[in-house]
This record gives sequence, structure tokens and C-alpha cells, in this order.
Amino acid sequence: MTGAYVETWYRGRLADPGPRPPLAAEVEADVCVIGGGLAGLTIALELARAGRGVCLVEARRVGWGASGRNGGFISPGFSAGHATLVRAVGENRARGLHRLSLEGVRAVADNIEVLAIAGADPVFGYLSASRHEAGDALKAYRDQMARDFDYPIEFWPREQVQAALRSPRYFQGLYQPQAFHIDPLAYSHALASEIERLGGRVFEGSPAAALGSHGAASRVVAGNGAVVAKDVVIATGGYTGPLDRRLSAAYLPIATYVMLTKAAPELIATAIRTPAAIGDRRRAGDYYRLVDNGRRILWGGKITTRTDEPRRLGDLLRRSMVSAYPQLRDLEVDIAWSGLMAYARHLMPQVGPLGPGLWCCTAFGGHGLNTTAIGGRLVAEAITGASDRWRLFVPFGLTWNGGPAGRMAVQATYWTLQMQDWLNERRR
Ligand SMILES: Cc1cc2nc3c(=O)[nH]c(=O)nc-3n(C[C@H](O)[C@H](O)[C@H](O)COP(=O)(O)OP(=O)(O)OC[C@H]3O[C@@H](n4cnc5c(N)ncnc54)[C@H](O)[C@@H]3O)c2cc1C
Repeated sequence: MTGAYVETWYRGRLADPGPRPPLAAEVEADVCVIGGGLAGLTIALELARAGRGVCLVEARRVGWGASGRNGGFISPGFSAGHATLVRAVGENRARGLHRLSLEGVRAVADNIEVLAIAGADPVFGYLSASRHEAGDALKAYRDQMARDFDYPIEFWPREQVQAALRSPRYFQGLYQPQAFHIDPLAYSHALASEIERLGGRVFEGSPAAALGSHGAASRVVAGNGAVVAKDVVIATGGYTGPLDRRLSAAYLPIATYVMLTKAAPELIATAIRTPAAIGDRRRAGDYYRLVDNGRRILWGGKITTRTDEPRRLGDLLRRSMVSAYPQLRDLEVDIAWSGLMAYARHLMPQVGPLGPGLWCCTAFGGHGLNTTAIGGRLVAEAITGASDRWRLFVPFGLTWNGGPAGRMAVQATYWTLQMQDWLNERRR
């Protein structure tokens, strides 16, 4: 069950030495990490840097899940927005959490720089544009981020947004010069190589099938072997199976989609004139960016509780693109793919202990590139005793996902939010 990567833009450009061998014996480690997405890789890397013996088991390939197929946008914040967090946990704790999310952005930038990650190709700048009149609200948000976090954001009036995005759909925007976009699969591979360079072990094609005890330690049966370790971390994201029933009952797998256009640099330049990552400010809006030196667009959007991939996925996303940019009506789709994100009902990551020596680090939703970096760091700090910063996540425990009714409720909420976005645009 090595599991090849799904076909994506990232897989096509990856310098892939091929899969690592599966686990084939019983091995001992200080910590066993289950799941080789960015959550698991970050935990393993932070532990290896702290001198711990770490063994990571991945069911398929490193970065095979959401981590190797996402939009590649890295910006501060969580899937639950800042205002939601303030309502849920109060001003002070919400600020502490937001500071962590900023640390997560910096952690990824630092890794790319320190490890000189070829292929991650970071490009700085993120423009989020409103599809209705929102100048006052955007300026208020900019001011709050500057005042509370010393985080710079530029307000762009409509003319400036429309000079960058040649679309009648967009109004004002916020530009974050410190946010950036990357190739997340290249980044995932580089973290795995660094773990190994530091003495950690990474096994691919090694699904963890059972968790038991072994004296004072735990025993994880995976692949054709087992790992005996004092601490175990489950970091299996939207692909979490029945390994731990509490975890699988505490999240919903939510799908989202991405496509890559064919190369058409002149045509694309009539529409998009910025190398920045671009998102619209709807609840589940479009997110896109130029890749391949501006020759193609990588376009993402839609979220749904339907986990099987729709037929004609490329056409679905292409319609969103042409609705924003009618001049791109002849631009064809090259590849389209989907991936699963894990969402808890509170929309926040689940980071903390499940029991003695057993940890979880999951449910990063659609904002996982910065938050896996910080979630992973916090679990590693907890295991080494370096900090108890994970406690900031205590209010966001394992709440029941509601079963099939919960899934229907989430889909209904999403449709309601879409309707509100549509009404906002009509009112403009
Ligand atoms: C299409 C798409 C676009 C996105 N765009 C963005 C974006 O632009 N910016 C952003 O911040 N976030 C984005 N996200 C969200 C982000 O990608 C995720 O939040 C993040 O990658 C989650 O990382 P993870 O390690 O928790 O999970 P994953 O990356 O899904 O990794 C989980 C891993 O666990 C493995 N696994 C599962 N069960 C077992 C087992 N029993 N044993 C061993 N291994 C197992 C899986 O094979 C998988 O590799 C996007 C997500 C998708 C799907």
C-alpha cells in the first residue's frame, strides 16, 4: 500500500528519489509519529532537532495527503477567524493564539531559508480582495493587526486591486507583504530528508494499524513491523481512520479542489498582474496564484462534505475562474485534483494529550500551512518538557462531530454562508 501521489502540479515537478522502504521489523524509538503530512513531519523534525530518537510511519508517501496537494498559501490565522476566537475564549487567549499562528508563518519561512529548500520557491505577498464594498471593515482589520500584533497589512483601494486583478468582481483588498506561497510537496520532502539527516527514521507505505501497550511504553503496529516508543503522536489529518475512535468521531473530512491551467502567458497577463497569492474574502471563496513563471494559474476553491471527487472537476473550477475573469474563457485546464481537510466543529486544531504518552496533532482545516508548523512545535515542546504552550488549545478539545447529521449540518451551514456571500455581492 505504498500509494503513488495523486497527479498534481507539485508531483510533476518533484525531484522524487522514490518511496522509502516500509517498516519491516520491530524498532524502538523515543517517539513514534503516525502520519507524514506537515503536522507529523514538523513534530518529528522538532523532536530530532531536540535530540530525541524519532520514528515516523506514513501510510503512503510523505506529503501524500492535504500537505502535498494544497494551495501553498501561508498566512497568519486559523480556520476559525480572529473574531470567532475572541468570542469563544476572550481577547487575551485569542491574542495568544494569533501570536502562535504568526510564529507558524515564520517557522516555515525559517525552515525554507535555513535548509535552503530547492523547489519550495517561496514568493512573498498575499492579496485578499473583497467582492463587495468593504473599505471601512478592511481598514479596521488592518489597524487591529498593526496595533495588536505589529503585523503590517496594506489597504488597497479598488483602483489598485483592479490594476493587479483585471476583473470587475473585485472591490478593495488587503495586501500582506509577509505572507507567502510555496510548493508544499517540495517543502514536505525537504522536512523528511532533514529528519533523516538528524538521525530520525521515516517509513513510507507503513499504515499504523493498531496501538497497544508494551510495559510502560506503547507499541504501534505499522507496515510489516512495529514501533515501541514512550510517546506516540497521531497526526493523520483528514485521512484519520479507525486507529483511535475518539479522534475519528471528533472531526469531519471536508474536500476542497485545485486545478492547474494550461500554459498561456499572454492570455493570463490580461487577467492577473501580480505574483502574489490571491484570495477573495468569501467564506469559501476562490484562491489562486500564478505558477510556472506566470505561464499558468493554479486555481483552488469550493468546499464540500462530499468526499468522492466530482466528475468534470476541472470544469467546475474553470467556471469559477471564468466568472471572475471572462477574458479567460478559452483557457484550458491541464490537471485538477482534490484533497481532504480535517475540521473539528469548533474549526480549531486538536493539539494535546489523548492519554498518558499519547498525543494528537490534527484538524488544521483549510489553514494548515502555518498552523501545522506551530501545532507540531507545541507537541514536540510538550514531549521534551520544554513548554506547556499546547495548553492554549485546551478549550478546543475533541467535540463529537455529530455523525451523519453533523455532516448534513455542516453542508447546510456552508450553503447558508454561500447565500450570504451572494447577497452581499448583490447589495453592492
Ligand atoms: C486542496 C487543498 C488546498 C489547501 N490549501 C491550503 C492553503 O493554501 N493554505 C493552507 O494553510 N492550508 C491549505 N489547505 C489545508 C492544509 O493543506 C492542511 O490543513 C494540512 O496540510 C494538514 O496537514 P496534516 O499533516 O494534518 O494532514 P495531511 O497532510 O492530510 O497528512 C496526514 C497523513 O497521515 C497519513 N495517515 C493517515 N492514516 C494513517 C495511518 N493509520 N498510519 C500512517 N499514516 C496515516 C496520510 O496518508 C497522510 O499522508 C488545503 C488543503 C487542501 C486539501
